[in-house]
Amino acid sequence: MASAVPSEDEILRAVERHVSQRGVPVDLRAPGAAKVSWQSLFEFHVHRSIERRHERQAREKGSPADIATRPTYTDLAAYPVAPPADPAKTYRTRLVREGTVDEEPCDGCVGGRTTCGTCKGRGGMPCPADVECEGCHGGVDACWECDGTGTPRTRRARAGSRPRGPDAPERVTCRRCKRRDVACPTCRGRTMTTCPDCDGTASTPCEECKGSTRTVHVPCGGAGRFTVWTEGVVAHLPDPDEVRLTGPQFAWLKTDALGAWMRAELTGVTDALPDFLEDAHRELIAGHLPARKNEVRRRMTFAYLPLARVEVRGRPDSVYYAFPAVTGIEVARRPSRERVTALVWAAAAVAALVVVVSLTVLR
Ligand SMILES: [Zn+2]
Ligand SMILES: [Zn+2]
Ligand SMILES: [Zn+2]
Ligand SMILES: [Zn+2]
Ligand SMILES: [Zn+2]
Repeated sequence: MASAVPSEDEILRAVERHVSQRGVPVDLRAPGAAKVSWQSLFEFHVHRSIERRHERQAREKGSPADIATRPTYTDLAAYPVAPPADPAKTYRTRLVREGTVDEEPCDGCVGGRTTCGTCKGRGGMPCPADVECEGCHGGVDACWECDGTGTPRTRRARAGSRPRGPDAPERVTCRRCKRRDVACPTCRGRTMTTCPDCDGTASTPCEECKGSTRTVHVPCGGAGRFTVWTEGVVAHLPDPDEVRLTGPQFAWLKTDALGAWMRAELTGVTDALPDFLEDAHRELIAGHLPARKNEVRRRMTFAYLPLARVEVRGRPDSVYYAFPAVTGIEVARRPSRERVTALVWAAAAVAALVVVVSLTVLR
């Protein structure tokens, strides 16, 4: 519900109540007792949607699943596209120019596959056929007679050098020197065992191509071809603009939270502006009202909060601000910027209006 602009009388009564709560009752409506100047707050936002149409050469790997069902056109400029629902958002309608869909073979592969880069087309990676025995670690324990060399030392040199404890594993016949009861049971004197990874083949399958020597060609997605066509794009791009007459010096008033703002929203370029606008506001936004080139939709929002600045005779240290709030007229006191004399306060107060006009064009 839009509240009405309070009268000067209502403003003064509210300030009277505010001042009386802190001490002496005052009558501000007596001639010359107070001076009211209006510094109303105003915000205007306009979101325009600007339409742009262009063509581009499109190229996608394989065959895009929906290419046959996309809408087609012959004259992009004449193709009807509804204005966007929300002018603050970006929309793109993608169209296919009739008769331009074609296929191109991929020149970087054969049938969508190329030689595996990991194994260089070998299908496998080199791997040792044999690995060190886990039982004897390839050391002298491989065989107490020949150390895994196949050439036994003299029995004399090693006799009794390896007494077998009660928990020691059984020794077996050495496959190298053929002596009994001397070799590591795991490798039987060989010092090495067959590699479990490649099972002795000296090659493991390439993890990339799983041994097939070829991999999917990424650029064409393994399709071996591309689909090309002429694409028409109808873009609806937001083009926001705003005018604010809400000086940052009023942030302490908490008008955003407390104020009973009058608000209106319009969507038509020629719509009549809200009645609550002051003439100064109409002048401020006049330059933002005409339709821009290729504008297909707009949304304008207006927000207005009457704000009165009240100076009270005999209280040069204070300035009072009053504005309509949901609960009535809100009054707040501020120390005046400088001590003004009784003579000077009668002069016109300088309105500290800050106009922020920012023009942002998003692409
Ligand atoms: Zn390819
Ligand atoms: Zn490979
Ligand atoms: Zn041996
Ligand atoms: Zn061994
Ligand atoms: Zn291996």
